Amino acid sequence: MNVPLLDLQAQYASIRDDLQRAIERVMDSQRFVLGDEVRELENSIAQYCSTKHAIGCASGSDALLLALMALDLKPGDEVITTPFSFFATGAAVARLGARPVFVDIDPRSYNLDPSRVADAITPRTKVIIPVHLYGQCTQMDSLLDVGERRGIAIVEDAAQAIGATDNGRRAGSMGLIGCFSFYPTKNLGGAGDGGILTTNDDAIAARLRRLRTHGGANEYQHEEIGINSRLDELQAAVLRVKLRSLDKWSDERASKAALYSQLLGDADLSFPLVTPQIRTDRRHIFHQYVVRTPGNRDALMDHLKTRGIGTKVYYPIPLHRQECFFYLGYKEGDFPEAESAARETFALPAYPELTETQQRYVVDAISSFRH
Ligand SMILES: *Cc1c(COP(=O)(O)O)cnc(C)c1O
Repeated sequence: MNVPLLDLQAQYASIRDDLQRAIERVMDSQRFVLGDEVRELENSIAQYCSTKHAIGCASGSDALLLALMALDLKPGDEVITTPFSFFATGAAVARLGARPVFVDIDPRSYNLDPSRVADAITPRTKVIIPVHLYGQCTQMDSLLDVGERRGIAIVEDAAQAIGATDNGRRAGSMGLIGCFSFYPTKNLGGAGDGGILTTNDDAIAARLRRLRTHGGANEYQHEEIGINSRLDELQAAVLRVKLRSLDKWSDERASKAALYSQLLGDADLSFPLVTPQIRTDRRHIFHQYVVRTPGNRDALMDHLKTRGIGTKVYYPIPLHRQECFFYLGYKEGDFPEAESAARETFALPAYPELTETQQRYVVDAISSFRH
């Protein structure tokens, strides 16, 4: 049997006709950038995320960059974030000349540990970026509280968490700005790159709309220097079709996750395997189903590979160990939880169309591993 880490073909087959019609509609209009499709998508995403505004842009990475530009992040400013994330989270900070200040993660949720944040705050701290990793929200209450008390903006990296909730609040609606990615492998993925920002703040929304079109209120008048980061109509049209099924898909991911955790819990394993923490006060949309096994991760992944099962490590090198961030002065051992998560965790195939037979095959393959 072959169980790829992700199979987009099955999803495509289920919405092929609607997608083809949407793409044809854009081709017939011959309007390709920031038109009606983008506007409609922005309205739908704002509604979906319970925010007043949504502003489309070219990628999740650009969403992070635009958010920090809209907050006037400057050289010398500090931004607190997690070292256990996709590269873009730290890069957006550094690209503006500001300093990423990493804070270790909670070893069960793999998200930024809010209890460690206060100690990292200095007079230069301008922003905190929690990353809702794997589709589960960071514990937001104490972060929001500290942000409010100390006048620090919270920017949510919700690239993996569209539709996730924390205490009933949607990802992207809790901080000042939310950043989302429509990269094809995300829960809501386009047919190429794309991203969107969410906010309840009118002034920030207007600023973001300017910044994504070279800082101009119109084509030839520029109040400030922005970037070219527009969302195109083809992406928006595809995403509007997919958005209709997003909740169904995310619920299906969550039920695959529940079955994995049940089967793995019942399995007679000869080694420790930690399944994801599922908190009852939040909706986890399971962008990834990530397990942890101390000591034998790579051998287990090889074992699964020989049985046709795709797995992947998110993320093998924490940000503070990336060469481009060596100048920050961090060293091995500074963030032990992030470092051991990088050594011990990996993702199993968990997408809406995965069958129970495939899941049982994966669990049987894990059970047959001897270390
Ligand atoms: C995917 C992702 C991004 C970047 O999104 P792109 O659209 O690929 O630029 C940023 N942060 C996290 C946590 C992500 O998973």
